[in-house]
Amino acid sequence: MRKRRKNRSPSEDSFRAERVIATDLDGTLVGSRACLEAFLHWRDEHPEWQLVYATGRSMASALELVQEQNLPEPAALAVDVGSRIFFRLRCEPGWEEDHRWRRIAAATWRPEAVLRLVRGMDGFAVDTVDDTGDPWGPRGRISGCWDGKEETAIRVEKLLREAGLPVKAVTGRDRLDVIPSTSGKGAAVRYLVRKLGARWVLVCGDGGNDRDMLSAGFPAVVVGNAEESLRQGQWPSSVYIASRPYACGILQGWEHWYGEAGVYPI
Ligand SMILES: [Mg+2]
Repeated sequence: MRKRRKNRSPSEDSFRAERVIATDLDGTLVGSRACLEAFLHWRDEHPEWQLVYATGRSMASALELVQEQNLPEPAALAVDVGSRIFFRLRCEPGWEEDHRWRRIAAATWRPEAVLRLVRGMDGFAVDTVDDTGDPWGPRGRISGCWDGKEETAIRVEKLLREAGLPVKAVTGRDRLDVIPSTSGKGAAVRYLVRKLGARWVLVCGDGGNDRDMLSAGFPAVVVGNAEESLRQGQWPSSVYIASRPYACGILQGWEHWYGEAGVYPI
């Protein structure tokens, strides 16, 4: 990664993308090879749509998946459930972190204090901690497997908030993430859309940690294989529930929002 001044926000002078598909990776873009192939074929014909990946993975893990699945390089990634944002360098291969976003997302983040309180809690087994020394490793979140009970997430969040730690507990099928209350995929995608200057946006997801970006006010699609609570949930009118799974659901969502009348500026 190229070194630049720490307080610089990379998108200011280099990145613009008018049309953006901001999508979760696991279970949304990735999960069905046939649907991914259909999506890649569609994308070849619509290169004006830039991609942004919003994932619970760390940067290192997200890039591994991009390589392994041969995914298109996105204009940017929101990783660690939105706690970090990386932009693609425009004139050379590589990525640059948006340090301004990092400061916003992590302004009140006290990982040691969070860890002290959640280690050993019933129903939540922490296995991923903040700041492992790897610059692209997990940051700005403390995560682990959980028992899938709503009351566990409520208990974790309550305990931390009562200790004066402004955090939120975000849950998915298998994992519970504790992140700063200023972070999350929704806040990160709003920030990214502004930085990229995007006017046409489609947000796509399948799991609990996608909830806030799906309801961020942009045209959005819940893919057909999404968690039941998302498929049955109460959503604003900007959220379309697809019947088709994975990346086929993304295409169905794009068709719904942009396919006929053509434009739906935000
Ligand atoms: Mg997912």
